[in-house]
Amino acid sequence: MIDKMKVSSKQVTIDAGEFIRRYRDVDRIRAFCLQCPGYGKSWSCPPFDFDPVTVTDGFKTVTVMGTTIEFDAQTRAACTTADQSRVKSREAINQVMKTLLPQLYEQERQTPGSRCFTFRCELCPEGCTRPQGKPCRHPDKMRHSLESVGFDLVAVMHDLLGIDLEWSTDGSLPKHITLVTALFTK
Ligand code: SF4
Repeated sequence: MIDKMKVSSKQVTIDAGEFIRRYRDVDRIRAFCLQCPGYGKSWSCPPFDFDPVTVTDGFKTVTVMGTTIEFDAQTRAACTTADQSRVKSREAINQVMKTLLPQLYEQERQTPGSRCFTFRCELCPEGCTRPQGKPCRHPDKMRHSLESVGFDLVAVMHDLLGIDLEWSTDGSLPKHITLVTALFTK
């Protein structure tokens, strides 16, 4: 159960070329991806068999959204182990994604030529096919995250939406988690 959390969102629309110039640094961000245990385990994550800069070719504008989940002090205090914090974070993220993802896909559907960027793909309940070396089951539905194609989300959120991303380094539940999504349009 998700007991006490507050969800808020902010968004901004800017020129796609400016966004790419200011915030894309594929090699630097790839170094962070390499440290992730999920590296190479989903078709939505690097390494790719294509140049990731090409996925944002031809777009004029981008709307970047930050959806922030805030936990209250009681909920945070109740998470006394790293496992509990992980479970609580995951529950909260899953709950928010249930609404957020369909909205984003719907925005994309209603905006011809647009493409949304979400999170590491979890469309298949039975798990991604990549570890078995099999092709993606839903290449038409799978979307990449902004970080997987080289965008610096810390800088994007700080500069454009005034949100400082937070991570726990000691196993505690962070005060807030921000989910970053985007819609590139032509
Ligand atoms: S749609 Fe399924 S197979 Fe494709 S990337 Fe997502 S989880 Fe993996």
